[in-house]
Amino acid sequence: MADDLTQAGSGQAKEMTDGGYACWFCDRPIERADPGAVLIHVRGFWAWHDGSNADDDPAQDVYAHSACAKDRLKGATMTLEPSVFLEDDA
Ligand SMILES: [Zn+2]
Repeated sequence: MADDLTQAGSGQAKEMTDGGYACWFCDRPIERADPGAVLIHVRGFWAWHDGSNADDDPAQDVYAHSACAKDRLKGATMTLEPSVFLEDDA
């Protein structure tokens, strides 16, 4: 999957031919039935750190089901807030 994304060219993750979007992790369509689906914007850390905000800064957007993002984006020191997925933080 990751190789497909790097070849997209436009900096965007694969948009499906029916106009929908495929999940970065599982490649299945993202449906409205998943209101907590997320867009993940990836950009260079140091450009951000140094305050660059140029339109041509390298960046890529990928899309994910809420469940896939919660399962696959677990970090060692930071946890995604439930509100990111439109869930209560309690
Ligand atoms: Zn998925």
